[in-house]
Amino acid sequence: MSNVMIIGGSRGIGAEAVRTFCRNGDKVVFTYHKSELEADALRQECGAFPVRCDVKHSDSVRIAVNRAIEAMGQIDVLICNAAIADYNLVTDINETRWEEIISTNLNGVFYAVRHVLPSMISRKSGCIITVGSMWGEVGASCEVAYSTSKAGVIGLTKALAKEVGPSGIRVNCISPGLIDTDMNKSVDENSIEEMEEETPLGRMGSPEEVAAVMKYLASDEASFITGQVISVNGGYIV
Ligand code: NDP
Repeated sequence: MSNVMIIGGSRGIGAEAVRTFCRNGDKVVFTYHKSELEADALRQECGAFPVRCDVKHSDSVRIAVNRAIEAMGQIDVLICNAAIADYNLVTDINETRWEEIISTNLNGVFYAVRHVLPSMISRKSGCIITVGSMWGEVGASCEVAYSTSKAGVIGLTKALAKEVGPSGIRVNCISPGLIDTDMNKSVDENSIEEMEEETPLGRMGSPEEVAAVMKYLASDEASFITGQVISVNGGYIV
């Protein structure tokens, strides 16, 4: 049994990760930002402990990490899942929006890692899973800010794996393709259908299919895997 902290666990892939680790018998603390009702429903459904946190602010992440350590004793597995999407021409993105996307999607991962790592290093064990995107691997038109943030997450993952591997800590990135969550609700139906057609497996993925890979990466079965980008994209990019 592990103690798992999931940053961004109130909806979508993160909420499914909460369910998956709870079913596995793990202790789970998860964060929410705006979705308080969803977080409370998840607490009632599976007994995981919700903590409010805005990943854009280091202090907010630090307080959430401290509450997780108080609740569970220690954090064995950290999952950095929180992110926002953005569909805009780069010429339509102002500086404030750019900073919001980079702060949420990239700085938020750094803050979580920064606050959790010292205790993992002193125990010489731990597992960190970041969540990138296939657009962080290949870039997407009209998603320059999002793609940039996710490419940063991939770089952070690889560099950190090298830095903390000698301390017995594994760091991997899951890179999802098109997954059926709220994040794609604003994308029009035709674009979704086109992307499904371009996906060799011919469909969107489910949050369960991503959460299953998180569970595997957190397990002892993945004990020799670190610094990797694991794509869960139905073959969309190979
Ligand atoms: P959702 O939009 O369904 O959920 C996003 C989660 O992030 C919510 O729990 C939300 O919390 C949290 N969050 C957003 N902003 C903040 C913030 N400032 N502080 C703290 N938490 C925040 O997204 P998905 O489940 O689809 O995405 C999960 C991950 O997978 C993301 O990293 C995303 O980039 C990645 N991904 C998703 C893909 C997809 O097709 N769905 C494709 C590729 C990658 P709250 O609701 O409480 O505000």
